[in-house]
Amino acid sequence: MSLRHGKEFLMIPGPTNVPEEVLRAMHRPAVDIYEGPLLETTDYCLTSLKQLFRTQGRTYIYAANGHGAWDAALCNTLNRGDKILVLESGRVALGWGEAAEITGLTVEILPGSWKAGVDPARLEDRLKQDTAHEIAAILVVQVDTASGVWNDIEALRKAIDAAGHPALFMVDTIASLGCMPFEMDAWGVDVALTGSQKGLMCPPGLSFVAASPKADKAHENANLRTNYTDWTFRQGPEHYQKYCGTPPEHLLYAFQKALELLFGEGVENAWNRHALLGEATRRAVAEWSREGALDFNISEPHARSNSVTVVRLDSAHATALRTFTKEICGVTIGGTIGEISGEGIRIAHMGHVNAVMLLGTLSTIELGLETLKIPYGKGGVQAAISYLSEAI
Ligand SMILES: *Cc1c(COP(=O)(O)O)cnc(C)c1O
Repeated sequence: MSLRHGKEFLMIPGPTNVPEEVLRAMHRPAVDIYEGPLLETTDYCLTSLKQLFRTQGRTYIYAANGHGAWDAALCNTLNRGDKILVLESGRVALGWGEAAEITGLTVEILPGSWKAGVDPARLEDRLKQDTAHEIAAILVVQVDTASGVWNDIEALRKAIDAAGHPALFMVDTIASLGCMPFEMDAWGVDVALTGSQKGLMCPPGLSFVAASPKADKAHENANLRTNYTDWTFRQGPEHYQKYCGTPPEHLLYAFQKALELLFGEGVENAWNRHALLGEATRRAVAEWSREGALDFNISEPHARSNSVTVVRLDSAHATALRTFTKEICGVTIGGTIGEISGEGIRIAHMGHVNAVMLLGTLSTIELGLETLKIPYGKGGVQAAISYLSEAI
């Protein structure tokens, strides 16, 4: 039997659901890149990014996925051989560190856990030992999509300040911007970056970087600069320089429309929607975990992200459950990656997601647990509903 034929849901932590309006915004002819309305689209996107990152700093748009923004952050501000400190809390920051190594930087990992956020006290200790201030930059992710952790960026900034350390503070917000509070200037972030295809509801292919005045200063002497990523060139007077070549017109139309949707909802309202859907998911998982086979990957409740929930279960159950939800019911949920590859599921509640999609997904997972006779605590969906009915 199959119950698949109907509207299918993609509930993986990126790429995420692209709203119809955003898809339609791309369906138009190419336009002139030297003058006319495209220039206004560029201005709108660059200015809106400041609003999203909550910064007065400069913003940049790359025709690249998130990995491209990682390169842009590093190459524009650092020098060959510089030492950087990568704060581990899952897979993603480590991947950024691997990119840094290839780029010519010396990488130190501050070891962390897959089950908890980065500990500010450990960061402070490590920075206090660096009396010569050899560490030029500190890299962290706000949300790690592999572990499901949320890192407290404000607390990490305070730890850097408590150690009196001058390193640049760089934050990857690819899985959190538009979903959860982020305050680049208020929290003292020097370089922030994100991508189009997660909380920002666009197709993959654009990424965005914002730079503080301190990052601008570091940029002046940075010798890792590359032609494509270079901020100085991108500040030039010609429109094409903003993209170092042909602007990715159709993705810009998509992004403009997605921004209009997000601002139409209200960014704080979007954060709140994610908070409610995230907590509803956690209520369901907590019930399912009471008996048997499932558990949260992140052990501390406050460090579980509002954009993705990572649930551990043994690989045979995880595979069977994901196959069931997809093939029989039409909901694609994520598998786990990296060091916990295969050993769980990832339920995304990120971007263009409403109560229908989330409750439908949770119900489908519970149907799968029941049908496949995976040991679980009953009442997960009811717990999610009870929570939402109180919270809304
Ligand atoms: C998805 C993701 C990335 C990688 O982005 P790509 O567009 O695949 O390069 C990096 N960081 C975080 C936090 C992510 O969620």
